[in-house]
Amino acid sequence: MAKFKAVLIEKADGGQKVSLTDFDDANLMDGDVTVRVEYSCINYKDGLAVTGMAPVVRRWPMIPGIDLAGVVEQSTHANWKAGDRVVLNGYGLGETHLGAWAEKARVKGEWLVPLPEGIGTKEAMAVGTAGFTAMLAVIALEQHGVLPSSGPVVVTGAAGGVGSVSIALLSKLGYQVIASTGRASEADYLKSLGAAEIIDRAELSGPAKPLAKEKFAGGIDSVGSHTLATLLSMTRYGGAVAACGLAGGMDLQTSVAPFILRGVTLAGIDSVQCPQPRRREAWKRISTDLDRKKLAAMTTEVPLDKAVETASTIVKGELRGRYAVRIV
Ligand code: NDP
Repeated sequence: MAKFKAVLIEKADGGQKVSLTDFDDANLMDGDVTVRVEYSCINYKDGLAVTGMAPVVRRWPMIPGIDLAGVVEQSTHANWKAGDRVVLNGYGLGETHLGAWAEKARVKGEWLVPLPEGIGTKEAMAVGTAGFTAMLAVIALEQHGVLPSSGPVVVTGAAGGVGSVSIALLSKLGYQVIASTGRASEADYLKSLGAAEIIDRAELSGPAKPLAKEKFAGGIDSVGSHTLATLLSMTRYGGAVAACGLAGGMDLQTSVAPFILRGVTLAGIDSVQCPQPRRREAWKRISTDLDRKKLAAMTTEVPLDKAVETASTIVKGELRGRYAVRIV
């Protein structure tokens, strides 16, 4: 097909315009693999891109969508051939490189990961960057010695995408999970994913003391700002917190006390430029450590023509779990 359906963000009147349009094949960017996209998904970053709330888009016009799963249509890259089933998270897709909310994407072969055995394209995008990030965070906790036997692990932004997948992963691995949420109405949902206890996010959202009572062996944080600082102050001796996000703010007003007096580790998590060996390890772990029934229960499917509207809601903190975008 010379033209294909795509969501396009264009500059307009000092702002931006987003529409579902017919995009010309000839305007795709350079890459050695062309993928027929079956599913993408909605991440917080996609919400920032389509609303223009943060300068996520750094190339105009832009097709949003930071994740894709699909089938290779054409390839001149040695590792890939037509018919291969692939997944791609990050690498600037939807930011600097034309993204995934389109029937077709042309990308670099070195960015792709084979779809793990037994995972379909919809499931892969139900996971998406948010779930992949949750897996990276769990691996980081393990690497820093936070194991199920270490004690309770708190997940902030619990009802969101990273939070929901983190709870499901941690609970399957045998951790005692404490879910921190601003939505008490989601308590049953969070328990169904495996949370043992629910706390109100207000308990963690005030300015942090240098040190507070030791409560958690570890944490996975999507919120940042005071929440991350408070979490650090409440982390037990030798524990670790994986910092994934900034849903509550980008700042971090903390002190060195948790690090030098309790040996706490702050582990940074980046999904975008994550090196290939770790990517493949994370996807392999997702295929074994994520309960598929829980994944299905936390996922809503939306068609491509509803992606923009849905993504505009994620930045308000109103979406629950994960949203897979059906492309065709
Ligand atoms: P979601 O919007 O799905 O989840 C974020 C959750 O954070 C919300 O559901 C809400 O949970 C909570 N929240 C929202 N606003 C606030 C606030 N003002 N104060 C406190 N809590 C708040 O987003 P994702 O889960 O997809 O992403 C979470 C964060 O992680 C984002 O900042 C995103 O940019 C970042 N991220 C980073 C990645 C990386 O590579 N490091 C990759 C993927 C995401 P509740 O209602 O339960 O309180």
